[in-house]
Amino acid sequence: MTKDSYDLIVVGGGIGGSALATVMARAGKRVIVLEAQDAFQDRVRGEWIAPWGVIETRRVGLYDTLMAAGGHHLKRHITYDESIAPQEAEAAPLPLDMILPDVPGPLCIRHPVHCETLFTEAGKAGAETLRPVNVTKIVTGDAPSVSFTHNGAERTVHAPLIVGADGRMSPVREAAGITLHQDKPHHWFAGLLVDGVENWSDDVQAIGTEGDFGFLAFPQGNGRVRVYGGYALEERSRFAGPEGAKRFLEAFRMRSSPNNEAIANGTPAGPLFSYFNNDSWTDQPFAKGVVLVGDAAGWNDPIIGLGLSITYRDVRTVTDILKATDDFATPDFIAYAEERAERMRRLRFAAGITSALDMEFGEQARARRESYHRRAAADPMLKMHGVAVMAGPENVPPDFFTDAHRQRVLAG
Ligand SMILES: Cc1cc2nc3c(=O)[nH]c(=O)nc-3n(C[C@H](O)[C@H](O)[C@H](O)COP(=O)(O)OP(=O)(O)OC[C@H]3O[C@@H](n4cnc5c(N)ncnc54)[C@H](O)[C@@H]3O)c2cc1C
Repeated sequence: MTKDSYDLIVVGGGIGGSALATVMARAGKRVIVLEAQDAFQDRVRGEWIAPWGVIETRRVGLYDTLMAAGGHHLKRHITYDESIAPQEAEAAPLPLDMILPDVPGPLCIRHPVHCETLFTEAGKAGAETLRPVNVTKIVTGDAPSVSFTHNGAERTVHAPLIVGADGRMSPVREAAGITLHQDKPHHWFAGLLVDGVENWSDDVQAIGTEGDFGFLAFPQGNGRVRVYGGYALEERSRFAGPEGAKRFLEAFRMRSSPNNEAIANGTPAGPLFSYFNNDSWTDQPFAKGVVLVGDAAGWNDPIIGLGLSITYRDVRTVTDILKATDDFATPDFIAYAEERAERMRRLRFAAGITSALDMEFGEQARARRESYHRRAAADPMLKMHGVAVMAGPENVPPDFFTDAHRQRVLAG
């Protein structure tokens, strides 16, 4: 092996890339990680890992690392709505520590801290971790290589496999000629980190919809809360401009969720970014000499906050295949592609129901939510999309991912 040849080249040192590099370096492989950013920034990305994602962090041996870096479990969930009295909503919180055995609830960790921790861990495990790099050429096929500049020097590295963990725009996906399919945007989704949120329990997450705004709130500990707000596609500029963050926080004042006053009175602790929420997928997240993980392979609509859990499962599945493949043999990623396709189909379905219920506005949508909440109280089967989100899509029978079920949920 020459100094520029490796077992794996990982493009992207975020969650997927650094987690995968850590696992494979710990398994004794020669890994190089190429990250574009000098320092990880708050890009308004996920802080919330679902209970089934927590299990994946354990299976890849990274749970303790995340907890040591400030990981924080949430214990209760409250759903507010303009059709429910706040006292009624608060009287029936969902216990999040009882969803899966031995999982104390969803896990929150600040995204830049999460990336930095994993990037450092990959280095500690023996991977060569470089940043900032500017990737200039990616060659896939029989003799994969990546050319880049780092510290003013040009280099080309070679390996039998390139891992594309380079996010939504994925240059690796493009170089491999893998097509990304996307569905239509459903709503705008803006996020902001807020400090000084007083009297909001550190272990209670909440969602709610009132008027023309739907919110989600995930406490990070010590009075800091990551909040998101959804609004109609026609309102593109609603929170634009220098006063945007202030207007965004004002939108949290809701009669149906009086505790939101604490959020509205908080102080922005990061940028306010808006994304249009949609879902995307690839038919096959691999090609000769390339495999994609995380957002590069297609992302789920962030309305159900599963990108991190999805990425950890990708990492676990791909690394299991790589570890079981003999040196010099070609890894077979078909089982990964099949499992991922069905997983993403089911999660697309769960996100579609959630968006229709929580992020549509106006009288008809309000009446539908009211009907849903009344019927779901009597028939918990109508909440199975939520079980897929929390416990994992494979833990819900296939019948719940059908048009007939969607019609039952959204009836009225
Ligand atoms: C508004 C919003 C809210 C979200 N909330 C949640 C949530 O609460 N929970 C959740 O689970 N998920 C959430 N997600 C999704 C989650 O953030 C992503 O699914 C997750 O970050 C994917 O990880 P990744 O490693 O695949 O990609 P990324 O986190 O995008 O990392 C990709 C890395 O590759 C690097 N890179 C890109 N191009 C190159 C290149 N050419 N060369 C080298 N490096 C490159 C980038 O700098 C980056 O570090 C949210 C997403 C959005 C948009």
